[in-house]
Amino acid sequence: MEGEIRIRPNDPALIPIAEKVFAGERLTFEDGVTLFSSFDLLTIGQLADEVNRRLNGGKYVYFNQNRHINPTNICAFHCNFCSFRRDPGDPDAYIWSPEEIVERIRPTVTDEVTEFHIVGGLHPEYGFDYYVNVLRALRDAFPWVQLKAFTAVEIDFFSQMTGLSHEEVLKRLIDAGLDTMPGGGAEIFHPDIRRRICPEKADADTWLAVHRTAHTLGLRTNATMLYGHIEGIEHRVDHLVRLRELQDETGGFQTFIPLRYHPENNQLGKRATWTTAHDTLKTIAVSRLMLDNFPHIKAYWVMLTPPIAQLALHFGADDIDGTIVEERIYHEAGATTERQLDRLDLIRLVRSAGKIPVERDSLYRILRVYDRPLEEIEAEIIARRKRRIMEQARQRRLRAQIQA
Ligand code: SF4
Repeated sequence: MEGEIRIRPNDPALIPIAEKVFAGERLTFEDGVTLFSSFDLLTIGQLADEVNRRLNGGKYVYFNQNRHINPTNICAFHCNFCSFRRDPGDPDAYIWSPEEIVERIRPTVTDEVTEFHIVGGLHPEYGFDYYVNVLRALRDAFPWVQLKAFTAVEIDFFSQMTGLSHEEVLKRLIDAGLDTMPGGGAEIFHPDIRRRICPEKADADTWLAVHRTAHTLGLRTNATMLYGHIEGIEHRVDHLVRLRELQDETGGFQTFIPLRYHPENNQLGKRATWTTAHDTLKTIAVSRLMLDNFPHIKAYWVMLTPPIAQLALHFGADDIDGTIVEERIYHEAGATTERQLDRLDLIRLVRSAGKIPVERDSLYRILRVYDRPLEEIEAEIIARRKRRIMEQARQRRLRAQIQA
């Protein structure tokens, strides 16, 4: 029956919210605060699972074969939660030329990789052309791979560097190969927190304006929220509501990714600690419930850890990110997860949660559905891997013969 409560919350405060969820009604700011304040995690998870079932069928979990590329760690800004940035001249500061990037990643880019995720520092001296040339070099070398590049903060920085509008910056990047935009740089929108953790960064209105412009130009983008540091529940809900409002307006967001704050090797870590698994699962679930107009919620395994990301698949998440190779930003901040998982690892993780892995590209076009017996899938992937290794060895032998 429409609106009937099909679960029994332990926390009575959740009963009116459960009624709304089963009636398909939008949740309010106050509902978001109630959800985050509640410790009835299983009820919140069940409600989020119900919404995921409604939006995505509930059985399928997306992943992709991607590569992370961080062209430089030199950054003009000083966000106090960041463990990745360096000043020019620091012993471990780096900047890779476009050609160097291509050669560094070439050994790991098979014809099955579909996405490069490109974000990094805001270099104070390299001009906008450097960033444009990074995209051009990657597009020329790997034309089949989609380029998901540059956060709204980076786009705003390029705009300030050049005096070009956000729209003109985005058009030039699209011309160089940009396909989609990641959702980073959102952190926490509320000014009371934003000014304490990243005062130099584009403010919330600017971040949202860049995404609005990107959507108008036909780009699909993602959105994030950095949680678990000094923000309060109201700040999280405010963040979600602001994203929901823009999505109502443009419909251009694909995925929301809650990013768990990592406290090591950064200034903010003196005041904040690791958040809990309970808080992480609740944040995934409340995100699914509040963002009723976002198609997907991602459990980013690098930050959540694979076991918690796997649990999150029953708390409203329907995407587990990708193979990555190799993550730098959160490992500098104390992430203890692997720097990469291969396709088989991800398939096993999803299948052992009772879900069906679906390999996608950056635009969520479905490439493969892994619904056959797991042994068959494993045998096929291992055989394909062996063929690739043998072919690479054959190519090396031929090159050596020619050069001899
Ligand atoms: S989060 Fe980004 S903008 Fe902020 S200091 Fe780190 S690299 Fe720079």
